[in-house]
Amino acid sequence: MTVDSGTGNMNGAVKASVRGQEGHGGLWESVKKAAFIIGSGLLLLAAFGNSLTWHLQRFWGASGDFWQNLWTKLYLKFEGHDAALFFLGTMLLPTLAFWVSNGLLLLVDMTGKPSFITRYRIQVDKNNPVDPAKLRHALQTVLFNQVFISGPMVVGIYYLMTWRGNPCGPELPTFHWGLMELAMCGIVEEIMFYYSHRLFHHPALYKHFHKQHHEWTAPIGVVSIYAHPLEHVLSNMLPAVMGPVLLGSHLATTSLWYCLALVSTTVSHCGYHLPLLPSPEFHDYHHLKFNQCYGVLGVLDRLHGTDAKFRQTKQYQRHIMLTSLTPLNESIPETPKKVQ
Ligand SMILES: [Zn+2]
Ligand SMILES: [Zn+2]
Repeated sequence: MTVDSGTGNMNGAVKASVRGQEGHGGLWESVKKAAFIIGSGLLLLAAFGNSLTWHLQRFWGASGDFWQNLWTKLYLKFEGHDAALFFLGTMLLPTLAFWVSNGLLLLVDMTGKPSFITRYRIQVDKNNPVDPAKLRHALQTVLFNQVFISGPMVVGIYYLMTWRGNPCGPELPTFHWGLMELAMCGIVEEIMFYYSHRLFHHPALYKHFHKQHHEWTAPIGVVSIYAHPLEHVLSNMLPAVMGPVLLGSHLATTSLWYCLALVSTTVSHCGYHLPLLPSPEFHDYHHLKFNQCYGVLGVLDRLHGTDAKFRQTKQYQRHIMLTSLTPLNESIPETPKKVQ
């Protein structure tokens, strides 16, 4: 499989638009669009951010300091065993979140049932059901990566974060600061994942490292960490762990961020565009076409024009949060091929 397998069947209109992107003024257009997206985001946040976080903060307080009490209990129970507490929060809990969500998805992938879930499949004719031998091999690699790479890395990060500050302090961060930390971790992840991922697509590196992850042109949830060990360190782990290290985050925020990161990468690989979940179309398209959509949020793809072809597709039209029960490949169907 070549890196640019998607270019072979580009139609004229798409080619013209890609040329436009790369040609004179293409970068300026991208910068203007990125500024527009970031600008409108900031404006919305300024308009609704305060009242939204105020309501959430009230909810937070109304829960009777539930979380702080829970944390105090844990903190006292583990007193003097910070390393064990840190491992529980940054390894065991996120791993549990990963396997619970993937366990449910695997039941659907392996049986091809129930149909009320499989009707949301993005690449309709794929993994129906999934090839057991291919799945077994993927599961072995995923377990290897979790036990022999993520595990030791988390231990190393404990020492790094303890040297930098106290990740297991008695007081939880405030609600607003926690929210701010999650947003900043998201930005760090986007930047580090986009560029490291794009680097792994360089022909000199691709065939040795990243090709393994792309064996799945129609991905399923567990494929999110089916990768070469070096890629797992540089592209999966580092972008996720750098945010909390840079911010000197509390274990509670770090743990929540790791859980969110693992569940979100599972959703973006799961192959089903389910109602009320973030749209997985972006990364699913990356697995289908290889040379588009390298990021997580898509901001840097817009900036660098690496979503130009994606934006001409049906998948892009479907790249929204589904708020009804009708699958998007029914409400936005493929255009029937012209009979010559
Ligand atoms: Zn992927
Ligand atoms: Zn890739």
